[in-house]
Amino acid sequence: MAATEPARTSSRHQVVVIGSGFGGLFGTKALRRADVDVTMIAKTTHHLFQPLLYQVATGILSQGEIAPPTREILSGQRNAQVLLGEVTGVDLEARTVTSQVLGRSTVTSYDSLIVAAGAGQSYFGNDHFAEFAPGMKNIDDALELRGRIFGAFEMAEIGATRGENVDHLLTFVVVGAGPTGVEMAGQIAELAHRTLKKDFRAINSREARVMLVDAAPQVLPPFGQKLGGKAQAELEKLGVEVVLGAMVTDVDERGIEMKFKDGRVERIDSVTKIWAAGVSANPLGRTLSEQTGAPLDRAGRIAVNPDLTLPGHPEVFVVGDMIALDNLPGVAQVAIQGAKYAAKEIENRLKSRPSQGPFHYFDKGSMAIISRFRAVALIGNLRVTGVLAWLMWLGLHLIYITGFKSRVTALLHWAVSFIGRGRSERTTTEQQIFARTALGRLKRGAADLVSDPGSYDAARQLLETTRRAELEAQAAEEVRLTDAGQRGVPVEQRVG
Ligand SMILES: Cc1cc2nc3c(=O)[nH]c(=O)nc-3n(C[C@H](O)[C@H](O)[C@H](O)COP(=O)(O)OP(=O)(O)OC[C@H]3O[C@@H](n4cnc5c(N)ncnc54)[C@H](O)[C@@H]3O)c2cc1C
Repeated sequence: MAATEPARTSSRHQVVVIGSGFGGLFGTKALRRADVDVTMIAKTTHHLFQPLLYQVATGILSQGEIAPPTREILSGQRNAQVLLGEVTGVDLEARTVTSQVLGRSTVTSYDSLIVAAGAGQSYFGNDHFAEFAPGMKNIDDALELRGRIFGAFEMAEIGATRGENVDHLLTFVVVGAGPTGVEMAGQIAELAHRTLKKDFRAINSREARVMLVDAAPQVLPPFGQKLGGKAQAELEKLGVEVVLGAMVTDVDERGIEMKFKDGRVERIDSVTKIWAAGVSANPLGRTLSEQTGAPLDRAGRIAVNPDLTLPGHPEVFVVGDMIALDNLPGVAQVAIQGAKYAAKEIENRLKSRPSQGPFHYFDKGSMAIISRFRAVALIGNLRVTGVLAWLMWLGLHLIYITGFKSRVTALLHWAVSFIGRGRSERTTTEQQIFARTALGRLKRGAADLVSDPGSYDAARQLLETTRRAELEAQAAEEVRLTDAGQRGVPVEQRVG
């Protein structure tokens, strides 16, 4: 299909930003006073606050609260344009970016490029697990999981009413004991033991089994042994079964199989599995690697220069989860600080100011919430646990949620869930659970359901030509029948 190139509207320096996540949004905003035009191209229309996805999946927050429209956030930034599209190609020689949406292709030129396309879920070479154990990377994942989690309780109620064994429906397995897995397991346990305890008649939701499985020997490895141990103890108090040193070897519709270091294999019957185990950098990294020779690491992250540019291409910056530099972690602050650095570097060059020198990441610490009033935080050498860590988590997330509207409504929903027993966002639909799998079975995904303008025009022309020929044939037949006296009233009789 022919790609269209938008007309260059100004002679100013053109910056293209790929992605509307932490790197993309903060990079674009940092350029608001620069003498440049910025085009942000992203495959979703929203800016996603990934750290709270698990709260959408467990019915605490709505998707709107953690994913405000990028267009609205940037509406006051006159030099920024937002384009919807999945970037499928970057031509470093021609300095163009090709993006697609519903089969329509657009080519955008740049003078400087900031690539912030993030990372996806990794199933360590077992991509077929994804159908039975969705990851936690985007809004679709969170809504599908919400449907699966609440749906499992519904199906268990029906089964129990008929006197069937429903253990497999009331067993929830979270794979991966990093912050996302810990938060997810904690929330499902709270849901089962607290939120839903009065809602069912045939089942007792408090009997639900919540398991957190990991091949590593401890939970939250980056937090160190002490905080990891504390988090594990808190999870166990909540009723979560923590299974460590267990490698997941198979996942299917009805369960999961794990292998232990001593060779023992165990199968757990569970309909609802959640994958929070591995990360793989965006495939655009491979395109960039092929064109520059910059190596990729095992997670697909691209090695960048100390100033976040690509070898031989000082006009291209890569930031956030896509980069392999000095063992930087895949966290929001790396993306935010990297994007701000890249924006400043672009401005410095335009103003002929000296470079800032190599990029330095300032580690502000990490935290993970276990359940209401329970969290762990590591800030430098300082370890904080319990209510204090939870309050720190609350304050920090309120600051970082984008937009006043979202902050107010999130605070309200947190009050409902943490002080009360309820969850404000329990709505689920069949489509949320099954639509993605159905779309995946179409050859070109959603594009197969929508005509592109070219084929629409051609189809309409063909229809018009066929219809005209049919009408002409019909008219000729009418004349023939009338002339033969077989149809209608002869003209002379009508007049008479
Ligand atoms: C469930 C979860 C919980 C997390 N919790 C924390 C936490 O508590 N603290 C913390 O610091 N970090 C956390 N992280 C990590 C943090 O969210 C990431 O490190 C951060 O989002 C990276 O920013 P980024 O800009 O590199 O990528 P992202 O924020 O992922 O943004 C990538 C953007 O690129 C777009 N995109 C992708 N491919 C294309 C394409 N081909 N064309 C166009 N657009 C594309 C995406 O739609 C998205 O807008 C968490 C991550 C997850 C998944």
